[in-house]
Amino acid sequence: MNPCFGVDEFGLIDIIKKKTASFNNEIYGIGDDCAIIPIDDKKEILVTTDTLIEGVHFFKNSNPYYLGRKSLSVNISDVAAMAAKPKWAFLALTVSDSIDLAYIKEFMDGFKSVMDDFGVLLLGGDTTKGNIFSITITVIGENKRYRSVKRNSAKVNNDIYVTGNIGCSYAGFIAIKDDIKINEQLKMAHINPTARIKEAMLVQAYAASMIDISDGFIQDCLHICNQSGVGFRIDFDKIPFCPDVNFVDRVEMLSGGEDYELIFTADKKYRSILNKIENITMVGSVIEGNGVEILKDNKRIDIANTGYKHF
Ligand code: ADP
Ligand code: MG
Repeated sequence: MNPCFGVDEFGLIDIIKKKTASFNNEIYGIGDDCAIIPIDDKKEILVTTDTLIEGVHFFKNSNPYYLGRKSLSVNISDVAAMAAKPKWAFLALTVSDSIDLAYIKEFMDGFKSVMDDFGVLLLGGDTTKGNIFSITITVIGENKRYRSVKRNSAKVNNDIYVTGNIGCSYAGFIAIKDDIKINEQLKMAHINPTARIKEAMLVQAYAASMIDISDGFIQDCLHICNQSGVGFRIDFDKIPFCPDVNFVDRVEMLSGGEDYELIFTADKKYRSILNKIENITMVGSVIEGNGVEILKDNKRIDIANTGYKHF
């Protein structure tokens, strides 16, 4: 928490939201992975923006190609979290003395490779100079009207699912930070995450609520709980933890963040369909109440740290 503000990151967002509240029932604004702007009764537009700052979100002298890829991927991940299709991007760069033209060119090669992966077009941006290299990206997506999946619509008795593995990005981050010798694939989970658009499209018709994991599995589960007015009961032994990692505790992996996997809930009637989809694991069920319970051998695990907050 920042002592100057007296509130944490999400408290500050709440204050901003209250101060600027508008009363348009059609537009879905602050509080989800993307805003939803209806175009007509057939189409809606999704908008998300995220900033990455040197020293906070990436190490100084990070590989520029993969930094370009990750910057766009994490924004596209927010569009995946709504089960929408990413279409257009805007890129605002604040360059600093710590980087040169060759670095920016390689950054743009990485950025373009993700544009090509997902068929996204860069339509504009801004270029300035400052003390610290920072990147702000806005991505606009598109969906059929009412098809986007929100955080506030989980229902009691829904099953809870997650894509991919949990904790590989955090393990990769620790290995890079502490210079631990591990296989490159683990480091790549942190350096080069993949936005789960493919999985999002496959579950779109079944998911009741969805979010992507940026801050940490537990904290992002909590966002769905708080916004849907429900609780989550998760079976620790069903969580698809990152395999073959012995230098990071599994409980720590639950709050490590930056997995960019999707957490979603769905009615039990879809279980047989969803369990056939590759790269998706059922990990628990939605219960009455609030908060996230993680059960191992029928006992609750104490989780002190739910996930990453900027302050
Ligand atoms: P995510 O981790 O999915 O990118 P965030 O936690 O960054 O989401 O933001 C949560 C919500 O708060 C989003 O809807 C985002 O657009 C909104 N938000 C964050 N910061 C601000 C701000 N300074 N002004 C208005 N809305 C904000
Ligand atoms: Mg998100």
